[in-house]
Amino acid sequence: MCPTPDEENGHQSNGHSNGHANGHANGNGTTNGSGHPGFKAFETHTVRPVSSNPYAPVQDYLSNIGKFKIIESTLREGEQFANAFFDTETKIKIARALDDFGVDYIELTSPAASEQSRLDCEAICKLGLKAKILTHVRCNMNDAKMAVATGVDGVDVVIGTSSHLMEHSHGKDMTYIKNTAIEVIEYVKSQGKEIRFSSEDSFRSNLVDLLSLYSAVDKVGVHRVGIADTVGCATPRQVYDLVRTLRGVVSCDIETHFHNDTGCAIANAYCALEAGATHIDTSVLGIGERNGITTLGGLMARMIVADRDYVKGKYKLEKIKEIEDLVAEAVEVNVPFNNPITGFCAFTHKAGIHAKAILNNPSTYEIITPSDFGMSRYVHFASRLTGWNAIKSRAEQLGLNMSDAQIKAVTLKIKALADVRPLAIDDADSIIRNFHFNLSAEKERPLLPLSAEEKKKFVKAEMDLNKEAEKRSIDEQADAEAEVPAAKKVRTETVA
Ligand SMILES: [Zn+2]
Repeated sequence: MCPTPDEENGHQSNGHSNGHANGHANGNGTTNGSGHPGFKAFETHTVRPVSSNPYAPVQDYLSNIGKFKIIESTLREGEQFANAFFDTETKIKIARALDDFGVDYIELTSPAASEQSRLDCEAICKLGLKAKILTHVRCNMNDAKMAVATGVDGVDVVIGTSSHLMEHSHGKDMTYIKNTAIEVIEYVKSQGKEIRFSSEDSFRSNLVDLLSLYSAVDKVGVHRVGIADTVGCATPRQVYDLVRTLRGVVSCDIETHFHNDTGCAIANAYCALEAGATHIDTSVLGIGERNGITTLGGLMARMIVADRDYVKGKYKLEKIKEIEDLVAEAVEVNVPFNNPITGFCAFTHKAGIHAKAILNNPSTYEIITPSDFGMSRYVHFASRLTGWNAIKSRAEQLGLNMSDAQIKAVTLKIKALADVRPLAIDDADSIIRNFHFNLSAEKERPLLPLSAEEKKKFVKAEMDLNKEAEKRSIDEQADAEAEVPAAKKVRTETVA
């Protein structure tokens, strides 16, 4: 639903190197050189999340939260990403990976775009994938005929309906659009193919025109109508209103396509499903025109929270990291640090109070179970924010037995040293090991090699922390005597 990229703009690299910073957690308790110092995969006892959230609002009869389909457009919308240039081999690799993941449809660039695009379309149709293959063409007979000839399972036709596009792009009026659409739909159907009709820039189109157009194509038996937020202007509430209104007008399926210019693409997709949309367009990492569309991984994160059984039962979620890496490599970008699921810190817990709760029960601070996606959670323990529960767990991993009092003492030293200089995992491990060794040694080892300047700072940091610990102990005693509620005590443990 976005125009073909303007070749004259050139495909400039954004200058990013392709060194992926997000390590795939392997769950074996070791880092994999992913540039994530101070973090370690932690085993915690697993609590299986409930399939449905008992606190979730009751879904109305229109909602398709638990029965949506994905139209994966990395090989169409994604090809419009500034950095994308997919050769045939790469397209086939991506198509196979998406098919293996379990997407319902794979959408390809129009065969009318170039001779190579046409050949690639034919090649992917011949792979015999489970996913249905679609191609995305302009709403005219020539393009439709070319699309059908490639062997696709379905044709997605699109035409601009906003006044901006009617005036400045194709220059056609609504009557012309309607008549052409009906002609194309009837032709594609006569060839035994699926047909979708979509407007472009739907949210800036005249609502009455839009509904009358969709109603007309629905009457001639189109399989899906599409709503496209081509410019990324829609809000979730606008999406809900438009899809819900359209649901009352057409009986066919409703596909939706959301650009991410204002960061609403995943939220808009979710709202569309709530309002009765049946299909969501995605691309891997969201690549597409400008900053792209709803991301496949992000949509999975959103949907697994809403309906875990449906999402887990239908899609091979543990493949998401591999697919994202494949596409990131192909278009020479890094996976963003804040990416849902695969961002390098998506399942990393740092603050002492978080670490303590996570070690007891991960559902306290996680709504998504990392293992559902083949990922691991990390607990950060080599920092000034660490707590004794995290250090205790680490000492146990290292096979060192210490009393709680001893663990608390070494935790204080780690926190003090982290105030002096940044600590790597190895540093924290050395401190724990040396502290443990010193407990029974005649001659003490230094916890870490420190310069004279660092030693001075360490002594001061330790003194300050000790004072605070003493004060806290007095507070706790006073709390206990006053029988204050437990909540207060929990709060004071943030510095433990
Ligand atoms: Zn688009």
